[in-house]
Amino acid sequence: MDCLFCKIIKKEIPSNIVYETNSLVVFPDINPSADMHLLIVPKDHIGGISDIEKSHGDLLSEVYEVVNKLVKENNLTNNLYRVVVNGGKAQHVPHLHFHLLGGQWKKFV
Ligand code: AMP
Ligand code: ZN
Repeated sequence: MDCLFCKIIKKEIPSNIVYETNSLVVFPDINPSADMHLLIVPKDHIGGISDIEKSHGDLLSEVYEVVNKLVKENNLTNNLYRVVVNGGKAQHVPHLHFHLLGGQWKKFV
């Protein structure tokens, strides 16, 4: 499948993966919208929000566990942070991903 994030996950395209588990990877957004802008990307090719099913429950809770770990590690607990999931025409890469944005917001994600 010709999917950019699948290629990053398979390490066919280089990226700076900062965290990885059996089910997800985390790497910096190439065009950051905030001081810190990480993408949390499930390894399974899930197209987007509308493809999420009940069976993805454990994966989604792992995503938010990782969000909390990254928030703590980057001292964002009492700072500004947001988790953004784009869908429909706001989504440009058709592989489900969660933007974690921290610190000063630079532009719309
Ligand atoms: P979305 O519009 O929610 O689908 O967001 C896709 C995000 O992927 C954008 O913020 C892009 O800057 C980011 N992006 C595109 N290509 C790469 C890449 N090769 N490595 C890291 N981030 C990327
Ligand atoms: Zn994919």
